[in-house]
Amino acid sequence: MIDERYASTVRLIFSLAKDGKGISQIRNYLNGHEPIVSPKDFELVQRLITSRRNVQNKPRKFENIFAGLIKCADCGYAMTLAKAHRSPKEEIIDEYGYMCNNYKTFGKSVDTSHWIEARQLYECVLNDIKRHAGEALSDNDELCEKLMRQIGSSKDKQTKSLDKEIREKKARLSEVDNLFQQLYEDRQNGNITERNYQMMCRRYEDEQTGLEQAIKELTAQRTESDKNRGNAEQFSKLIKGYAGIEELSAALLNTLIEKITIGEPQDVDGERIQEVKIYYKFIGCISQEGHIR
Ligand SMILES: [Zn+2]
Repeated sequence: MIDERYASTVRLIFSLAKDGKGISQIRNYLNGHEPIVSPKDFELVQRLITSRRNVQNKPRKFENIFAGLIKCADCGYAMTLAKAHRSPKEEIIDEYGYMCNNYKTFGKSVDTSHWIEARQLYECVLNDIKRHAGEALSDNDELCEKLMRQIGSSKDKQTKSLDKEIREKKARLSEVDNLFQQLYEDRQNGNITERNYQMMCRRYEDEQTGLEQAIKELTAQRTESDKNRGNAEQFSKLIKGYAGIEELSAALLNTLIEKITIGEPQDVDGERIQEVKIYYKFIGCISQEGHIR
């Protein structure tokens, strides 16, 4: 019973159909017939239908899509879903939040609540994903470079400069080998005293050891840098597909994110600031400004 006209015509159509009269006559009866349902009852039924439809479309059970992903930044315990004691809200997400399970179980003596509103967390994560996805979509190489700087290059050097340094060290090592050879020949020919020969030998040996050690370390850095680049490219490729998202789901979060840590809110110059760190698959935490204000 959706259309108001049905309120006055349903019984009429049944009775005409029983009498075997034609559809043209039905049309004639559509107006002016006494309704079988009063306008008041009709209103009531509409309200019931509408409210039942809303219940069916929007279940009031809150799905914790962050389950298994969010941890307390200070004690490492899981953040557990908790109902905020407040009157029902239009959207159920506004009735929930998360708190440190350590605090919830053992209280103030072990930790603070680290309370975060479910809505704040949702929007913070959604915006972060959209931002990185947008960057990956507009300039993949640029994002990879940026990620490289953030995840590895602060301690490691760029691949190019590493390659150059490795080349130079290897060339010098080869020179030292030749110098050794030359020194040996000089000694054979009596062009150098035994004392000087021994002194030069030690000097070249020390340099050789130093060069070999440096090449080993630079090569390890180079391997690490390659790994970082591979990870940055993997992440960029993965997140690119999520540029247009407007909603989060548990499946999406588990595909992209390793974990999220929630800090205790701090009062900074009268402003409430809470640190949320999102650790993505492949590259870890890359957001510089994971704060909720
Ligand atoms: Zn905790």
